[in-house]
Amino acid sequence: MDTLSKSAPACDPGQRLTADVVVIGAGIIGASCAFALARAGLAVHLVERDAPARGTSGACEGNLVLWDRPTSADLHLAMWSHQRWAELAVELPAQTGIDIEYDRKGSLMIVRDEGDVAAAQVKCAWLAAEGVPLEWLDQAGVHAAEPDLAPDIALAVHFPADAQIEPRLATAALVSAARGLGARIHNHEAVLSIESSEAATMVQTVRHRITASWVVVAAGVWTPDVLRMLGVDLQVSARKGQIAIVAGAPIKVHHKVMEASYMTTVANDETELQVAAVVEATRAGSILMGSSRLLTHPNDRRVDLEVVNRIVAKGVSLFPGLASGKVVRSYAGVRPLSPDHSPIIGPLPMAPRVVLATGHEGGGVMMGAATGDLVACLIAGRAAPVPFEPYLPSRFFSH
Ligand SMILES: Cc1cc2nc3c(=O)[nH]c(=O)nc-3n(C[C@H](O)[C@H](O)[C@H](O)COP(=O)(O)OP(=O)(O)OC[C@H]3O[C@@H](n4cnc5c(N)ncnc54)[C@H](O)[C@@H]3O)c2cc1C
Repeated sequence: MDTLSKSAPACDPGQRLTADVVVIGAGIIGASCAFALARAGLAVHLVERDAPARGTSGACEGNLVLWDRPTSADLHLAMWSHQRWAELAVELPAQTGIDIEYDRKGSLMIVRDEGDVAAAQVKCAWLAAEGVPLEWLDQAGVHAAEPDLAPDIALAVHFPADAQIEPRLATAALVSAARGLGARIHNHEAVLSIESSEAATMVQTVRHRITASWVVVAAGVWTPDVLRMLGVDLQVSARKGQIAIVAGAPIKVHHKVMEASYMTTVANDETELQVAAVVEATRAGSILMGSSRLLTHPNDRRVDLEVVNRIVAKGVSLFPGLASGKVVRSYAGVRPLSPDHSPIIGPLPMAPRVVLATGHEGGGVMMGAATGDLVACLIAGRAAPVPFEPYLPSRFFSH
């Protein structure tokens, strides 16, 4: 067959298997794809070189926040996903016994700097026109919503529909639900090579040779490595983020609380370190503080204490009481950033049976549920609630 492939591996090809779809990567994106494809009645094999949520999806936060989406296309995918997570919060525990800790707690965008007011007004007018519920809070409203915020904070926007899940539990629940629908899960099984022709694909792992009609590549920041197996070059950058976890602070954080400048850090192309305050409480009572952004390499999970200090200083400026707590843990993850900051979902133009699902940067949890559904719609040839075009990989390849 006329194939697009890397040379075959030298090792024993192992047991031969067949499937409708092989999904590569069991982060939140791959897990969601595997679940949605299995629910669509397809025979799915989910192949992960480590274990579910051991990549970025296990080193992040679980905010389902709409207001940081930079484009209408991202926002529409996120709004669909918002709705899907609310449904999955009921369906997944019923199917798997795993509670994904969905909490519709709402978020606050703190508008503190004079310079942020105009940008926040423009953004909120756009969000409201798109149907995102929001309300402006004055000083009294801000402190009624979050009594422990710094007293000088006088303006915020409340987004009552925003929510939170626990991403590791959500990934585990999606994998478990996919398995319950007949999907086969291959943990600790790295993909070594891929072949793709017009009619079929072949995925060679360390143990199996799986022939399938489709391959979904959901390998996060490692997607470029997987695509090189097909001789395809596509940039997905690694943008590191760190989180500091604080215990013992005598405060309560009711919402997800973020500085308005967070929007700028998400949308820009800065290569220097950027930090914007993000503070939230988990169900277990600890307080998570983020967030930083720094371009790095995919395997850079090193915690930098200077960055932790900057994150803590920012958090304390919002909630002074955090200064009385202790940082008990810190971790880092790497966000998969596409060249235009929007997710990449759809078939490769040069290998149309290879479907990508990556590049969600800081919104992979948010957009994860809908991404799986969109991939299932693409492969099953069904209409989706959002158009496919804005996400297609073809936008990065000249014709
Ligand atoms: C600090 C931080 C905070 C964040 N907070 C939020 C948030 O609040 N809300 C939100 O929506 N998003 C957030 N994000 C972003 C979110 O975490 C990511 O967008 C999302 O986790 C990406 O998921 P993924 O499945 O694409 O990648 P990953 O979770 O990295 O999964 C990719 C998987 O592919 C596997 N893989 C790679 N190569 C191979 C191979 N050859 N063979 C087999 N398997 C392979 C890897 O082992 C990995 O498990 C945050 C990110 C960070 C770093």
